[in-house]
Parts: sequence; C-alpha cells; structure tokens
Amino acid sequence: MQQTNTPVIKDLVLIGGGHAHVSVLKRFGMNPVPGLRITLVTRDIHTPYSGMLPGFVAGHYDYDDCHIDLGPLARFAGARLYHAEVDGIDPDKKLVYAPGRPPIAYDVLSINTGSRPDSVNIPGVDEYALAAKPIDIFLHKWQQLVERVRDSEGPFRIVVVGGGAGGVELALSTRVRLQNTLRTAGKDPGLLHHTLVTASDYIMHTHNAGVRKRFERILAERNIEIKTGARVNEVTAKSVHATDGASIDSDAVIWVTSASAPGWPAKSGLGVDSAGFILVDDQLQSVSHKHVFAVGDAAELRDPRPKSGVFAVRQGPVLAHNLRAAVTGKSLRPYRPQKNFLGLISTGNQYAVASRGNWSYESAWLWTLKDWIDRKFMRNFNELPDMKNDDSPLLAAGIADAEAIRELSTLAMRCGGCGAKVGATVLSRVMQRLPDTHRDDVLIGRDAPDDCAMLSVPDGMVMVQSVDYFRAFIGDTYTFGAIAANHALGDIFAMGAEPQSALAIATVPYGRERVVEETLYDLLAGALSILEPTGAVLAGGHSSEGAELAFGLSVNGLIDPDKVWRKQGLQPGDAIVLTKSVGTGTLFAAEMRAKAKGRWIDAAIQSMLVSSQRAAECLQGYGATACTDLTGFGIVGHLIEMTRASAVDAVLTMDAIPLLDGALETVNAGILSSLQPQNLRLRRAIQDVEQTSKHPAFPLLFDPQTAGGLLAGVPGERVSACIDELHSMGYPESVIIGHVEPLSNQESPIRIRI
Ligand SMILES: Cc1cc2nc3c(=O)[nH]c(=O)nc-3n(C[C@H](O)[C@H](O)[C@H](O)COP(=O)(O)OP(=O)(O)OC[C@H]3O[C@@H](n4cnc5c(N)ncnc54)[C@H](O)[C@@H]3O)c2cc1C
Repeated sequence: MQQTNTPVIKDLVLIGGGHAHVSVLKRFGMNPVPGLRITLVTRDIHTPYSGMLPGFVAGHYDYDDCHIDLGPLARFAGARLYHAEVDGIDPDKKLVYAPGRPPIAYDVLSINTGSRPDSVNIPGVDEYALAAKPIDIFLHKWQQLVERVRDSEGPFRIVVVGGGAGGVELALSTRVRLQNTLRTAGKDPGLLHHTLVTASDYIMHTHNAGVRKRFERILAERNIEIKTGARVNEVTAKSVHATDGASIDSDAVIWVTSASAPGWPAKSGLGVDSAGFILVDDQLQSVSHKHVFAVGDAAELRDPRPKSGVFAVRQGPVLAHNLRAAVTGKSLRPYRPQKNFLGLISTGNQYAVASRGNWSYESAWLWTLKDWIDRKFMRNFNELPDMKNDDSPLLAAGIADAEAIRELSTLAMRCGGCGAKVGATVLSRVMQRLPDTHRDDVLIGRDAPDDCAMLSVPDGMVMVQSVDYFRAFIGDTYTFGAIAANHALGDIFAMGAEPQSALAIATVPYGRERVVEETLYDLLAGALSILEPTGAVLAGGHSSEGAELAFGLSVNGLIDPDKVWRKQGLQPGDAIVLTKSVGTGTLFAAEMRAKAKGRWIDAAIQSMLVSSQRAAECLQGYGATACTDLTGFGIVGHLIEMTRASAVDAVLTMDAIPLLDGALETVNAGILSSLQPQNLRLRRAIQDVEQTSKHPAFPLLFDPQTAGGLLAGVPGERVSACIDELHSMGYPESVIIGHVEPLSNQESPIRIRI
C-alpha cells in the first residue's frame, strides 16, 4: 500500500479490470512504485472469471465464487477506482474519456477491456438474443431466462449461436441448469430443446479432432442438436434464420459467436487490425503509441492467438513488469505466448474434457482439477494480504525526470498561511474550464475579480446558511466533489429552502502543477454537477495546498420565513419517515481496510449521489412537521435533537430501518466508523437499551452518514400517500421507521421496537 502523502509524479491509467489488469493491481499493491498514481477505470466493479462462468450458469458456483472484486483489489493497490465506461482516448494529449466525467490524464495507459461476441449488422441480435458478453448483462438476462423456463408450459426451444468452446460450454451448462429448474418445478425436463448453430463445418474448430469427437458425442448424449455450416443472418422473437435458408424455431437465443472489438480504439487513432483490435508488439505496447499498452482480447499480437482468457492471464505478470519499467525508465520484457496450452473444457455436469495440441482426454477427475485450479486463481485476488503502510523511499528511482525534480524541490518549503493557496495561474485555468452559471440574485459571482461574492435576498425571503467540509474518503475526486456538494445541500433541503449559492473550500495535496490543477478541477466539476440541477450557483471559494485532500462547501438557501422547517415541529401521531438507507459509515470504514465488497461501495456511492431536493418538496407537500438530514450523528443522534426540541417521544421499529447492502455484514464483523463510539454515548437516550442493543442492526442506529437521507415527521393520515409518491419520484428506499408519541421520559425519549 502506497503512502498517501507521496507527491504524484506520474499517472498510470488502467482501462478495464480484465484478467491481466487484476494481476497488475495485485503486483503493484505488493510492491508499490512511490510517486506513481494508479487509476482503474472500469465498466464493471466485479470481473467475471471466464473459466468459471459455465460453472456459475450450471449452478456449481455462486456469484462471488467466480467474480474478482475490483473494489478491495484497487484499494490494496492504492489505486483510484473510477466506475465508468471509456468511450475514447486522445493518445496525443494523453487523455481518457468516459461520459459524464472530466477527462482523465495519463502518462502511461494500459487497455484490458476484453471483447464482445460479433453481432455487427445482424438484425434482431441486440433485441432478442442474450449475448454472452458483457457478462453482467448476460447474467441479468440469464436469470430472467431461468424464470421464463420455470414458468413455461409446454416445449421451450433454446438456440445457442456459436460453435466454439464458449458456445459448446454454454449449451451444455444452460441445459443442465434449465433441466434442473424444470425438475424442481415438477415439470418434464424433456420439454427443453437445445440447438447449437455454427457457421463452421464442425464445432470447436480451434481444437483437435479428438476433442471435437468427444464433444459431438457428449452433445448427442444430452440431446443437443448440432447445426453446422449455418451462418445466422437474422434473429426474430420466435426464430433464427441462417444464410443457407434454414429457419430454426426459438423461444430464446444465446449468442456466443467469435470475438469482436469495440469501435473506440480505432476512432481514437490507435493502430488496429482490420477487425479493430489494438495492434501490439512483443512488449504489449501499441504499435502506434508507445505509452499505450493493450492486452487480452482487446489486443492483437504480431503472432495472433485465440481470444481466450488464458492469454490475458499469462500476459498479466509481463504487463506488470513493463508498466513498472515504462514509468521508471527501465527495460521492457517481451511476452512470449505459448503455442499450446492445456484447455479444460467443462461439460456442465462436473465433468471435463482436456485439450492440448493433438491430445485429448475426458473424466470427472479433470473437472475436480479444473475446479481446484480456478478456485486457487480466484483466491489470489479475493483473499488479499493485510495492508501494511509502505515504508519504501518517498519516490521510486527513475520515476521523476529533471522537470519533476525541479518542481518537487519547492514542495519541501511550501508556505503556510496565504502562501499555501493554490497558485493564481492554476486557479484561473481551472475557473476558465468550469461552465459558468448565473442567477439574478447572485450579484457578484465567480466570474468577477472582486474579493467577495455579493448576494441579494428577494423581498419576503430569508437566507439560511450551512457549511460542511471533510477529508476525501474515495479516490475518485470528481465523485467526491459531487458527494460533498450533495452532503452540504442536505441542510438546505432539511430546512425546506431553495439552494441559491455556494462557496467551495478545497485542500489539495501538495504536488506538481498539472496534478494540483486536475484535482481541483475534478472536485469543482463534481460539485457543479450536483449544484447546477438544484439551481444553485458556485459563487466563489478558497483553495489551498495541504497534506491531504479535503473539500467542502458553504451553502446558502432562500426561504419564506413562515415556511421554514425546524427540528422542533414533531407532533404525537406523526410517522417518522427516512428517505435513504443507512450504513455509509461502517461501509467506508470497511472499504478503507479493503474489507467491503465493491458492489456494496458502489451502491453506497450511488445512494450518496441522490439529491434530497425532490424528497424535500414531496415531504413538504404532505405537510411534514419537522425535518433534518441524516449525517454525522446517525439516526439516534439526529432523532434526539428532534424529539428534545419538540418535547415528544419517538418509537422506532428496528426491522423497518433500511440498510445499505453489506452494512449489516460489516458492523457484524466489528468494523465501525471512527465516529461511532462518540455517537454511541447517546444510547442512554434509549429506553430498555440493554434489551435492544442485542439486535444485530443496533450499531447502525449510531452509524454516521455522509449525504444521508431526510428524516422527517409526517402526519399519520397522510404518510402512506407520501411514501408512495417518494417511491415514484426515485426514492425507492423511503420508509416509515417509527412514529411520534407524547413525551413520557425527558432523559430517554426514544423507544425501540424489535
Ligand atoms: C461462455 C464463455 C466461456 C469462456 N470460457 C473460457 C475459458 O474457460 N477459458 C478461457 O481462457 N477463456 C474463456 N472464454 C473467453 C474469455 O472470456 C475471454 O477471452 C476473456 O474474458 C478475455 O479476458 P480479458 O482480460 O481480455 O477481458 P475481460 O475478462 O472481458 O475483462 C474486460 C474488463 O474490461 C471492462 N471494460 C470493458 N469495456 C470497457 C470500457 N469501455 N471502459 C471501461 N471498462 C471496460 C469490463 O468491465 C471488464 O472488467 C470464455 C468466453 C465465454 C463467452
């Protein structure tokens, strides 16, 4: 794990969390390059391990058995994790583009984005077929197919298009699983018909004749019909059509044809082959741009190899070496792909066929071996060593060139006070890049050279103000800026006000000018992405350099003074409504220790990005009596503020409290936010606390929230309609978590029902 205060000298950006990049991340985590910042940009947070996919489909593995979790792995590598799909790069400006976020700068780039089955120009494939890739979409549609088959009456016909190893494995594994599904539902498994269609004259054309013969026999034994020499040229809702005039009836089509490349590498100007795969030399470097590396299915070697995960896996260690060498000015190593490799191809029923050169063999024992090899591979990435703080030198040898050394020499003597401000040139460049926004009541804003913003408050309105500021808890600066803005605005919404303006305050780690500029831009662009839709203007701010990244905003809102929501309005009979799930405190504490699943963190981030603006409007429409936004003090802390101010009791229903995925697991593993113990002191405000504290979710009542939901009292007779509307407005987790009663005990105003 890299020291966080090491200045960033170079940026290595990895696009895609494929089979080679997971190995790169692991190796850089074990042996960091001080001064190198790694950013992983990936469409999926969990990388499916292709070798185990048919086993997952057949029902032998669960999701986590066969997916590499990029969340903890990126944390282990000290890499920033950007959940985004890249749609282009500029190899001359060295920028990566992903929709909805600022460009990502790199010094060295590596691409491991895989491939998709070829369906170009074939009508109906996108609409009616289940393409084997992207695998997350396949898995989602696969689940729907399992349910369709389970609920079907009469025969069900499945056509698998593609006669390579992937198509054959999927035909066999889907048949095993779906026949079991029918059996379990008390139906006849014989109702399921499978046809495997291939354009080639025989199946598995990249394997030897012995392997082909074995699979022809196995497919026949399983009643899977094979149709060779049929190039599919159209898929409809009920049939598959081929160029030889054949038409095959189908209720579902699985598409596993040969690999195709996305269009963006070619459009970006990278050298590609006629199919669009990135051409690389023996050192895995792009033949057109030496600072770009490409591996796995996305790349084409001088001496091409089949598109198979095996090659991506083998490229991993060489790629890791070469990336390290590229950033530190050392020699690169060639990658020498093996001519023959042992392929273990499963038959769906815990049995496998081995293929190597002209040799083949089959047995149940081979499946056991394959299972052992695959699980061992997965343990490499899903069971990471404990993270230690790195005590290696401040910068890796060779990473800093003369210019970097000159820039860095000034860092040690950086001033405090006003001398710590981010330089005027950097600041003005950032300001020029940010979009301008105006409001009539913001008289002097960010575009003017004056010392202060000048705001007017329209007649009949008052201004409410709040400020929030905290240390970065994720590596994705743009998303952090957006969450910080959302968090700050929560106070404005909780008062029932309309956001008007904000001032930003940023502390950016000491570093090279380019890095400081990019960080500041990302933070402010992220904040603007949240402020703008609410109607608020970023009127100014202050930025300085410091030891660690931190960001916050002072926010201003306008409101008619007669309509201000306070904490003190709760009435007996009110229902207590919460609009978002809780658990961000424990989840991010776990994430810091690389103990949280990537999908939990991703879902928590999505929740933190949801604005409470419309929820506040809805709650107001239903006459909410009091409101607050859920932040650092957790549910109990904030509820105490409300009950004490309103002189009432609150009764909470423990099982009604909505929890973010994974939050219960992390608190039960004893992982709590560092603020939690202080919040826990408020437990004395709970009646019968000894009893209720035994509930497994009890610690979550004290979990500090970042950009949490609104906690409001809503008159009992209107709450049901209010919840329905919140759901329809995009707050699906909104729920009644309790109700308000007359005051019974000043000291302990909270009761919990279990
Ligand atoms: C059913 C089936 C079974 C298979 N079985 C085997 C097998 O047993 N053994 C074997 O060796 N091969 C197998 N293969 C082939 C294997 O799946 C591929 O060769 C392998 O996955 C390629 O690995 P990769 O590392 O290049 O990319 P992938 O493993 O596909 O990883 C690509 C990564 O890039 C990300 N990504 C993609 N596009 C973008 C983008 N634009 N921006 C950001 N991120 C992006 C994805 O989210 C993913 O994390 C099988 C294929 C199929 C369809």
